[in-house]
Amino acid sequence: MKKFTRTISGVTPVAVMTLPLKCPGQCIYCPTYLAIPQSYTPESPAVLRGRKFGYDAKKQIELRLKVLSEMGHPTDKIELIVMGGTFLAFPRDYQYQFIKDCFDALNGEESTTLEAAKKINETVNHRCTGLCIETRPDWCRQEEIDRMLEFGTTRVELGVQTLNDEIYRVVRRGHTVEDVVKATTLLKEHGFKVHYHWMPGLPGSTPEEDLELSQRLFDDARFRPDGLKLYPTMVVAGTELEKWYRDGRYQPYDDETMINLIAEIKSIVPKYVRISRVLRDIPAKFIVGGLKDSLRDIAKQRMKQQGTECRCIRCREYGHRAREGWEIGEPKMVRMDYEASGGKEIFLSFEDENETLFGLLRMRIQSQPIAGLGANGNLAVIRELHIYGPEVPLSQRKPNAAQHKGLGKALLREAELIAANMFQAQWMIILSGVGAKEYYRSEFGYRSQGDYMVKGLARMAKVNLHPAQSASVWHPQCQSDELSHAALPSVSRQ
Ligand code: SF4
Ligand SMILES: [Zn+2]
Repeated sequence: MKKFTRTISGVTPVAVMTLPLKCPGQCIYCPTYLAIPQSYTPESPAVLRGRKFGYDAKKQIELRLKVLSEMGHPTDKIELIVMGGTFLAFPRDYQYQFIKDCFDALNGEESTTLEAAKKINETVNHRCTGLCIETRPDWCRQEEIDRMLEFGTTRVELGVQTLNDEIYRVVRRGHTVEDVVKATTLLKEHGFKVHYHWMPGLPGSTPEEDLELSQRLFDDARFRPDGLKLYPTMVVAGTELEKWYRDGRYQPYDDETMINLIAEIKSIVPKYVRISRVLRDIPAKFIVGGLKDSLRDIAKQRMKQQGTECRCIRCREYGHRAREGWEIGEPKMVRMDYEASGGKEIFLSFEDENETLFGLLRMRIQSQPIAGLGANGNLAVIRELHIYGPEVPLSQRKPNAAQHKGLGKALLREAELIAANMFQAQWMIILSGVGAKEYYRSEFGYRSQGDYMVKGLARMAKVNLHPAQSASVWHPQCQSDELSHAALPSVSRQ
């Protein structure tokens, strides 16, 4: 049976497990089982699929594509998610081969090099429009950044967990808050989307401290991630933490405390953040202590009782809300500016009057050049362009779907105007998924340069703006951190 939610966010996620190779970390809470990728337990669905094929990337993806299309999901826009331990710390050759195998599987043919495989993927039926890699903040330096760019990565999930050096020491995390700051800055400066894994309830913390640190994530401009996975600390069988639990050195929060804490964290999350997960996917039989049930619904109920709400991207996405029976109104363009990691982030979105989200664009204005691209003055970097709603195959248009109605075009056009007119940026640079490059090339005149899609904005600064767009670009509110509602460009009313 088709599970509707799987593709409701507009792309089809495909998880692929790497070989169970040693992670350089020694975190006391990390599940570590023989012949199982670190931080996973033997019966997680992705692990079962990986094991079945000896962790062969190609076979895992081929099977997944087959199953998904048999279930009725479109498979033309794929987000690949590389899972298992710390991939970027594995032997180099293995990393390159694994990623090439992923592209070969999507392409349905074998290429001689990774570059060739990526090139082919730009125009095949199963395009990789996003590639996600999980890593540790201390395994996210310039050399790892360069390698991730070569792989075609667009999103990085950083294992941050907390923002307290003493807690890092207690749980033997092996890195510092400063590593988080550096990794976050490097990632954003290179155009990646940055999601954090976040673990309330670690040894040495308290609910008050967790809430304070969660607030700091968004108050402190050195962090401000684009997304969060909330992973309340669990005591997993066989971990060092289990020993601590058994001999009384660690006590997880009781369910009530953790649910209240999650509800509070959700209520302070800004609108530019997506909470994509609440609880780790660990089968209950491996959990010795801590919460076992999926928290999203319980936290939602709690917030309703308390009169608060989660305004994160996931909770406002058009597809989810349409399914829940929300009345959907007309989309209007909304803009929010905020400082983050040494640059200015401009978050453009299409929302109706209830803040139901149809699509978004993240643009970063920075003076920091990217190797080989831009140099003088401001650089505009698009880190995300995403239209929500059930995935619409590339060749089709559905009457009620938000995708392909010109919203993406309107967002990109607005971003180009803002970059050129307000920030005098000479170039727009997009870190695009390999499989989305053709879209930017054929529809918007971008060209490939290195790992990016690039377009000169010099001429754009001289064009006469459409009155509505002009108002949205030059409206005084747009220059503050306030939200401003701009008129909907006519293109999105089709
Ligand atoms: S970094 Fe991740 S995979 Fe490595 S030991 Fe820590 S939790 Fe486990
Ligand atoms: Zn939410």
